[in-house]
Amino acid sequence: IATMRAESVRLGKSGYAPVKRLPANQKLRILVTGGAGFVGSNLVDRLMTEGHEVTVLDNLFTGRKKNIEHWFGHPNFAFVVGDVVQPIMLEVDQIYHLACPASPPHYQYNPIKTIKTSTEGTLNMLGLAKRVNARMLLASTSEIYGDPEIHPQVETYWGNVNPIGPRACYDEGKRVAETMMYSYQRQVGVDVRVARIFNTFGRRMHPNDGRVVSNFIIQALQDKDITLYGDGSQTRSFQFVDDLVDGLYKLMNSNYSLPVNLGNPDEYAVATFAHTIKRLTGSRSRIVSLPATTDDPRKRKPDITVAKRHIGWQPRWTVQMGLEHTIEYFKKELEDMGEIIPT
Ligand code: NAD
Ligand code: UDP
Ligand code: UDP
Repeated sequence: IATMRAESVRLGKSGYAPVKRLPANQKLRILVTGGAGFVGSNLVDRLMTEGHEVTVLDNLFTGRKKNIEHWFGHPNFAFVVGDVVQPIMLEVDQIYHLACPASPPHYQYNPIKTIKTSTEGTLNMLGLAKRVNARMLLASTSEIYGDPEIHPQVETYWGNVNPIGPRACYDEGKRVAETMMYSYQRQVGVDVRVARIFNTFGRRMHPNDGRVVSNFIIQALQDKDITLYGDGSQTRSFQFVDDLVDGLYKLMNSNYSLPVNLGNPDEYAVATFAHTIKRLTGSRSRIVSLPATTDDPRKRKPDITVAKRHIGWQPRWTVQMGLEHTIEYFKKELEDMGEIIPT
């Protein structure tokens, strides 16, 4: 039921969304790095609702205070403005390590910082996990498969990444982060979980995020040109954020410590996706073709057999249901920004 809820937060009498009352031995202290971002803030809502104590660590590079401000002042919630590249001492039972810009324009804006965030940042979180004996989950990515030569992608595929291209700061950063996770597991026994996340969309995406779902929806809502990069024949598979949050929660609390793909296998050519969004928004936009971006993966689709078998997870939202929900969210964002939506 939690995965199917349409709104992430409904206010109770206290002014906060209701949270479960957990017995002391089940209430965990949980750190969410990157918790003010798109995925992180949706995960924070779930963890708070489940009754845990949540600390968000975020430098607000791409995250926003408004994504988590509905928990400010709650006795179970703490927000630390800080950078994972700096060491930090905290006492926690679990770490969800999400801190890292995820959209290509954001992670390419300062590639040196991106690689530091994935390497030094993950090292610090692993040092913390080791010291306090916490279980740690890394938000890895389908990008570690690069431009894949096998389709759909299974977790045993080692990938095809250009180590020196403009995407490398992100892809190789996450690959090293995975390597660090399993080195700390082997050498000092840190309890690790690795989620390989495929393209995800939903509420709290930044309107200027620059990824395909936010670009297309905002362009369509404003009747502006919908920008296809390349001919649009490249494919992606899109999952709604509530499904991802459910998968992250299930993976963290499972006994499975190898990497797990989390994604919706429903695969679209980007051009088809543009038409779908145009139809769902009733938009008059034109669909225009711009030059392709460097090293853009040709296709991407998760094989989710491992997730089904080992953590009992599969997506429950159809892409269309998720898009309808997300379109409503972006309409409201545009209104809040004072933008005019043509009627
Ligand atoms: P996002 O940009 O909305 O969130 C990232 C968060 O991390 C932001 O709040 C940002 O301020 C914070 N951050 C960045 N660098 C930091 C640093 N050095 N120290 C502290 N905080 C820092 O992106 P998202 O889509 O929510 O992605 C969250 C995680 O999931 C990322 O690790 C990303 O790589 C991974 N992921 C996301 C997707 C997706 O489709 N959304 C796909 C694959 C993997
Ligand atoms: N670290 C941290 N918080 C902690 C423990 C460690 O930020 O609670 C950092 C530490 O500063 C180091 C990294 O994590 O940069 C790796 O720590 P580890 O103990 O594994 O390595 P070492 O400090 O021995 O190099
Ligand atoms: N894309 C596009 N127009 C846009 C933004 C993205 O055609 O305005 C394409 C992009 O080239 C890629 C796909 O959509 O093929 C997904 O891009 P995104 O940046 O969302 O995520 P990626 O999977 O590349 O990390």
